[in-house]
Amino acid sequence: EKADVDKWVKGACRFCGTGCGVYVGVKNGKAVAIKGNTDAKTNFGFLCVKGFLAFKCMYHKDRLKMPLVRQKDGKFKETSWNEALDLVANKFKYLRDKYGKDAVAYYGSGQCTTEETYTFNKLWKGGFRSNMVEGNPRLCMASAVAGYVSTFGSDEPMGSYSDIESSKCIFITGSNMSECHPVIYRRVMRHKMKNPDVKIIVCEPRRTSTSKIADLWLPNDPGTDLAVFHAMANVIITKNLHDRDFIAKHARITTGKDVVDFEEYKKFLAQFTPEAVEKLTRCPADHIVKAAEWFATSGATMSMWCMGLNQRKRGMWANNLVHNLHIITGNMGKPGADSFSLTGQPNACGGVRETGALSHLLPGTKPVANDKWRAHVEKAWDIPAGTIDPKPGFHTMLMFEKLGAESDAEKPVKGMLVSTTNPAQSLPNLNKYIRGMQDSFLVVLDIFPTRTTQLADVILPAAFLYEKGGVFGCSERRSQLTEKAVEPIGQAKPDLWIVAQIAKRMGFEKLIPWNGNDSMKANEQAWTDYITVTKDTEHTLWGATYDRLKKEKAGLQWPCPSVEHPGTERRYVRGLDPMFEHPAEKGNIPDSAQVYFYADAKKEGKLNLFLRPYEGPGEMPDKDFPFFLTTGRVVEQWHTGTMTMRIPEIARTHPNAYIELHPDDAKQLGITAGDMVEIVSRRGRSSMPARITKGTLPGVAFVPWHDQAMARMINFVCNDVVDPDSKEPEYKVAAVRINKI
Ligand code: SF4
Repeated sequence: EKADVDKWVKGACRFCGTGCGVYVGVKNGKAVAIKGNTDAKTNFGFLCVKGFLAFKCMYHKDRLKMPLVRQKDGKFKETSWNEALDLVANKFKYLRDKYGKDAVAYYGSGQCTTEETYTFNKLWKGGFRSNMVEGNPRLCMASAVAGYVSTFGSDEPMGSYSDIESSKCIFITGSNMSECHPVIYRRVMRHKMKNPDVKIIVCEPRRTSTSKIADLWLPNDPGTDLAVFHAMANVIITKNLHDRDFIAKHARITTGKDVVDFEEYKKFLAQFTPEAVEKLTRCPADHIVKAAEWFATSGATMSMWCMGLNQRKRGMWANNLVHNLHIITGNMGKPGADSFSLTGQPNACGGVRETGALSHLLPGTKPVANDKWRAHVEKAWDIPAGTIDPKPGFHTMLMFEKLGAESDAEKPVKGMLVSTTNPAQSLPNLNKYIRGMQDSFLVVLDIFPTRTTQLADVILPAAFLYEKGGVFGCSERRSQLTEKAVEPIGQAKPDLWIVAQIAKRMGFEKLIPWNGNDSMKANEQAWTDYITVTKDTEHTLWGATYDRLKKEKAGLQWPCPSVEHPGTERRYVRGLDPMFEHPAEKGNIPDSAQVYFYADAKKEGKLNLFLRPYEGPGEMPDKDFPFFLTTGRVVEQWHTGTMTMRIPEIARTHPNAYIELHPDDAKQLGITAGDMVEIVSRRGRSSMPARITKGTLPGVAFVPWHDQAMARMINFVCNDVVDPDSKEPEYKVAAVRINKI
């Protein structure tokens, strides 16, 4: 409050999916401070170190200030915007004319604004007629999307963060929330301190700082938790703790192919006794029993998870099985009872999931293969019927696999535009994918040089969030507007301006008319275009106009069907969800129903309770690669460190990667703290110093992935096997060999 500033400008944090509300302090036209927004319903004024210090990277000397074009000698040369944009548009036109509409791909980010992602998606699908549209949420949230859609019929959680304060038991699995969503963790911690009887269960291979407040830790080998969830369900049903009424009214029990009865489900679960699952997973049987009892009997249990469940070969199934625990215990549709996926990035939900900026989706998170929905979007976009291709494009890993030189017939994707992400550091099994980025025509929009800009043909300097404004939608379906606070540095430009200029040069000015220099005006035009498409869908943001988002101090949660509507804290519940009484649902919902899953494609108002067979990770340790490796983040660093390593205070904390080893493993390998070790998988190698900690299970090693040094980039080692349903790769589990160097 006391900072010496000329004005405070409302916005949202630039980093994680918590969606903390902020005010940016501006002095003499520069961002000089950030404080938490005490009215924000996400964070009530609190921020973590990243959000608080974000402004400090904005004026770092490395900021990209001019367009750069690679010359014949391999060096970059500064050019004008006109020259760079003409080059990009002409080359994209040439590649499309020569190799077809899918020759140029877009790869975006959960860190672009909703207006930007929507516009890229519209240009590619409605203009180029290509579904070669992907984004890094494929690498972090695709399994959560597939889990929600397959269980409930519609993406994203039914409840809100406010369930935390009403819960009696919190089940945290596949998430080191204390470091990855620190402000949400603060809410959990505060709730526990005020209400010591609230039970906290943490299910994780590592005893992370999150488990410090846990009443119960369920350790398990990476990738084996499907068995733990089934065992908990088995205990709940065997002990007669399940909610028969909820299951009978709301659940369709299914193998995915066939509908089965409850007895068959019970019989299926019988193999997952706590003792058998202890042998399989190393999770103690008595912990499983206790966790199951607490989950079922608390009166209001909330689950929260993140990448630990999603970045898996069976990530969608893992999501389904957590939903199952809520279905069989009736833990949903009431305060404190929620199956809640935490989103990693600030705008993976609002920007990529909701605008459908993945190769198989359209705005409103509906599949491109859906005839009715394609017709709806074509009408909204005023483009001829049949313009949008019904066939999905390549998912991320396939897109990068198929990216290559013009001369390579096996690589049909010849060019790519990458915005606000760093795939040359963030993809798993990097050795396999770097060549494609090197050989193709690569255009990168970013604020700093990265491993990916090193491979680019054209680098376009992008504006920082607080230099352009825009909407971010966080984990709890909440869209929050950031106002432009300051002018972009150098000649940096908002992505929205850049994509509109490319569209104009390629003949799509009518489709993307928001090409002016006033970034907030262009944002509003794009947002209004977008919310028009969502009108009358279960994802409606029709009432969340720009005017309202400017005035609302805490943003708005969808569904928000009219300008009078306050936004929706809980979906599928009569009286709380405006879509419940929506005309499209008239006649479907019985008068007696208080909870109804209207997104069910079969129109029976039910959700799916899945019998999913047990399947372990893509690779298990063996004699050649005897250790599990799992990866994650630390609280100070954000993803590949592009921004956080340019904030001096943060750069000093955890600048380098390290490997955590259990003391028993370290002793056996002759490793002491600080020794350099080599980590080798079937795909690549990495080397870094060792830390010895009892916080991990023997046989399980952990490495944070933010380090940019080639020798310490752990993603050379990670597994790129994908979930067959969500197509998300299994970053979280790899078999490795560890040697002292
Ligand atoms: Fe930003 Fe996430 Fe930290 Fe909040 S918790 S300040 S959204 S990084």
